[in-house]
Amino acid sequence: MTSSKVFVPTSHPRYFSLMIREKLVKGFRNGLVAPEGLIAHGRGESFDYLLGERTTKPALKSIEAASALFLLADFPVLSVNGNTAALSAKEICELNYALEKSFTEVNLFYLTERREELIANELKKYGLKKILGVGAKRFTEIPELESNRRKVDPEGIFIADLVFVPLEDGDRTIALKRMGKKVITVDLNPLSRTSITADVSIVDNVVRVVPELIKHIEHLKKNSTKKELQEIVGCYDNKKSLQEGLDIMRSSKVLTATESE
Ligand code: ATP
Ligand code: MG
Repeated sequence: MTSSKVFVPTSHPRYFSLMIREKLVKGFRNGLVAPEGLIAHGRGESFDYLLGERTTKPALKSIEAASALFLLADFPVLSVNGNTAALSAKEICELNYALEKSFTEVNLFYLTERREELIANELKKYGLKKILGVGAKRFTEIPELESNRRKVDPEGIFIADLVFVPLEDGDRTIALKRMGKKVITVDLNPLSRTSITADVSIVDNVVRVVPELIKHIEHLKKNSTKKELQEIVGCYDNKKSLQEGLDIMRSSKVLTATESE
């Protein structure tokens, strides 16, 4: 499949959005992203538009709480799907490195062994050696889930105390919570079931979030005690943070064409 290449100047008001879209389309052509993933991206884009395509103050608070929760976990697992791999494979590997004791697991809603393998190869490009959720042993099942995502790695998500699930489906997030896990998500939609079910929901684009998470984790690692990390988590109110994200979207104003440039 080919497409005509359109030159987008960096001064274009949607430059970054178009570049992210381009990455996803490339991921689709390379087999990493499912066709449904393109549609899910479109839903995310529309919320990002309303946010002003920036990391907001409530998102930063969620990032801080997520970083503290990550550092308090004994066995955190980073769950990677096609969209996350296409947009942030390198950064996920860097996050895994910063966390030191985490593992990365491929987990797909629209599962094919080929995509699983392609995603694992994409992660390997950035130095990740051990990747969970690939091959036959992924077949431990999350109770009560009917989609393919009930299949998780018995050495990964199944035994994790914390799971990072960016761009996740609500059924699975609910199932992970029922299994007693702490859940951190990145979801541009503050109204999704994933957002309202997770312990910490970062309402922001995964492309902006992961580098910010790494910065916060490195900072907290050097400067905070366990008690201080617990305090950060204890003071955090996810529902309040989601409401603040939604309020920002609702307060966006119609600008004239020149104002929006
Ligand atoms: P739920 O199942 O949680 O109710 P949903 O069915 O509306 O949510 P899904 O397709 O299951 O949506 O989940 C994908 C989520 O990822 C969507 O809420 C979408 O807004 C969000 N999303 C898509 N692209 C990005 C991105 N680049 N960064 C952050 N979030 C994104
Ligand atoms: Mg869904």
